[in-house]
Amino acid sequence: MDSPDFSEEKMRPVVQPVYIARAIRMNKAQQQYFTRRLMHWHTTHNGRSLPWKEEKDPYKIWLSEIILQQTRAQQGLPYYLKFTEAYPRVKDLATAEDEEVFRLWQGLGYYNRCRNMLGTARYIHHDLEGKFPRTIESIQALKGIGAYTAAAIASFAYGLPHAVVDGNVYRVLSRYFGIDTPIDSTAGKKEFTALADQLLDKTDSAGYNQAIMDLGATVCKPASPDCLACPLNDKCFARKHELWNDLPVKSKKLIVKKRHFYYILFLKDNQLWIRKRTGDDIWQNLYEPFLVEHKAGLTTAELATHELVKPLKLKKADLQLSGRLFQRLTHRVIETHFYLYRIKNTPAALPTGGKWVSLKELNKYAFPKSIISFFEKNAYFY
Ligand code: SF4
Repeated sequence: MDSPDFSEEKMRPVVQPVYIARAIRMNKAQQQYFTRRLMHWHTTHNGRSLPWKEEKDPYKIWLSEIILQQTRAQQGLPYYLKFTEAYPRVKDLATAEDEEVFRLWQGLGYYNRCRNMLGTARYIHHDLEGKFPRTIESIQALKGIGAYTAAAIASFAYGLPHAVVDGNVYRVLSRYFGIDTPIDSTAGKKEFTALADQLLDKTDSAGYNQAIMDLGATVCKPASPDCLACPLNDKCFARKHELWNDLPVKSKKLIVKKRHFYYILFLKDNQLWIRKRTGDDIWQNLYEPFLVEHKAGLTTAELATHELVKPLKLKKADLQLSGRLFQRLTHRVIETHFYLYRIKNTPAALPTGGKWVSLKELNKYAFPKSIISFFEKNAYFY
């Protein structure tokens, strides 16, 4: 394979100190070198096997992409298999009951994805006569689909020449070319998208997109890239300057907010009191026991006298702390306490909208992951 001149002076304007470039000027040979090396690795060394990789059905590709948003492939895999088995065609998903779909999604988090997915399936079924859109513009017009997902569907299903830019692609390109433009800035998105389009193998856009994402996921990993095994190692800027840990750059620091949830699990005659979350908040449409959310931690005594609990006239001594869990979401950490409270009569002040459900029937309802974990750890619920 030809090895064109990739010296920094030719590839990018020299900045002082010689560190990182802002504008990539590639000639055809340099672009081809990157693309050919990557594609050669893909056909000879890329052993990453996932069931949606050879898929051509746009519906199933779309399903896999929605499931994989903010989810690792290994975690998303069983969900993809469950969904394609339960709903092999868009019509099957579109005509399914909400409750049933949410139950299948249970444990994957980010329930907005599930809601948008259902809405989109129904839109395609009813308004588009069940036909998945065929152009990138019409794919991107679907709810819950951004630029990345649209490019993935367009290239994988139809072979259209659109380059994907996801976290893996940002990482490979920023390290290889030494670009420090923040990937979460408008300028960064524009710059990386233009570069990705330039590098795309237009004769095999699906193969190229798969190759660069797989390289990012399996070789150019966030914490410890395996540069020795990388097909791009001889010209990689980050490798040469030992800058793996500095690239890619993000401008915004993630602010993680802590929330404190106190669940009181009212148990009566082998039934649990639950209600649906309806507010504009996380876990919308999922079920939960009686909840008190407080801005700071509460002791059991403070919980018993909380304004939401006081009207229920509970006996503090019968409020048993039975579990405590931490759940990390993208922007928040949720500390959840579970209290069991056995009663003979329904407290008159229990809020409206709830219902008593037999413990044996709990598995028919969709709950947030932390609640499921608590149920599973406390076998007597089943
Ligand atoms: S050489 Fe290392 S840092 Fe550079 S692209 Fe390959 S794995 Fe990433």
